[in-house]
Amino acid sequence: ATPMSIMTATGRGAQAGVLIKNAEALERFEKVDTLIVDKTGTLTEGKPKLVDVFPEPGHDETEVLRLAASLERGSEHPLAEAIVAGAAECGVDMADAKEFEAVTGKGVTGKVDGRPVALGNLSLLADLGLDAGAPADKANARRDAGETVMFVVVEGEVAGLVSVADPVKETTPAALKALHDLGFRIIMATGDNERTARAVAARLGIDEIRADVLPEDKARIIKELQDGGAKVAMAGDGVNDAPALAQADVGIAMGTGADVAIESAGFTLVKGNLDGIVRARRLARATMRNIR
Ligand code: ADP
Ligand code: MG
Repeated sequence: ATPMSIMTATGRGAQAGVLIKNAEALERFEKVDTLIVDKTGTLTEGKPKLVDVFPEPGHDETEVLRLAASLERGSEHPLAEAIVAGAAECGVDMADAKEFEAVTGKGVTGKVDGRPVALGNLSLLADLGLDAGAPADKANARRDAGETVMFVVVEGEVAGLVSVADPVKETTPAALKALHDLGFRIIMATGDNERTARAVAARLGIDEIRADVLPEDKARIIKELQDGGAKVAMAGDGVNDAPALAQADVGIAMGTGADVAIESAGFTLVKGNLDGIVRARRLARATMRNIR
C-alpha cells in the first residue's frame, strides 16, 4: 500500500467512525472471511437489567436479592451492575461483603453477614460441587427467552435464581444482515450459557455460536479457525476480549468498550456498533483496488 492511499483511507475511515490503526490492518481486513462477534456489549447494549428473582422454596425473594447484590457490589462486571442497580431500585438494603473473589467467566464468591454466598453460572456451581437441582427447568425457560440466569448459592445450597436481560443494540440486526450479504461467515462467541446464546443468535439470524466460552478460549477458537485456513476478524468490547482481538488477523474494538480492547485492536468502531465494519470493508476494498 502506498502511504498516500492509506492516509486517505484512514481519513475516510475516521469520518465514517472507524479508527484504523495501520496500513497492515486495512490490508489484512480485505482478506477476512470469518467474523467472530462477542455477544455482550458488542451485539447487545452491554447494559443488562435485572428482570426477575426466583427464590427456591424456603427462601425469601428479597433476601436472595439482598445477598446477591451485596456480593456483587464488589464486582465491576455488567451483570453485577445490573443486580446492584435492580436491588437498589427495589429499595433493598445491601450489606458489605467480605472475602470477595471474582471467578473470571464464572461469577463471584464471598461472605455476606458471615454467611458464605456465591453467585454465577453452572460452571461456578460445578466448582462448588453443586448441580443446578430443581431450578434447572426455570433457568432454561428464562434462557430460551434470551436472558442470562445466575444461581445464588447460600451456605452451600442453591437459594434461588436471578435473571438479567441485555437488549440487542438497535443497529445490530441491519448491520448483521449487511455483513451476511458481504459474504462473511459470522460466529457469535460468548461466555454466556448455550441456551441464552442460541436464543439471541436465532433472533439475529446467526447460525453459528460458541457458548460457555472462557475468556482464554476465545483466542484459541480463533487460532483453530486460522489453522483451518480462515482469515478471522474478531469484534469485541471487553477486557476479556483483548487476547482474542490480538490473536485475530484483525481485531475490532468497540469505541465504547474497555481501553485494553481498543489497544489490542486494528480497528476501533467509534460509535460502538457493527455498522462500522460494513463501512470498513468497503473502504478496505476501495483502497486496495486503488493501490493495485
Ligand atoms: P461474556 O463473554 O458474555 O462477556 P463473561 O466471560 O464475562 O461473559 O461471563 C460468563 C458468565 O459467567 C456470565 O454469563 C455469568 O453467568 C457468569 N459471571 C461472570 N461474572 C459474573 C458476576 N460478576 N456475577 C455473576 N455471574 C457472573
Ligand atoms: Mg463483551
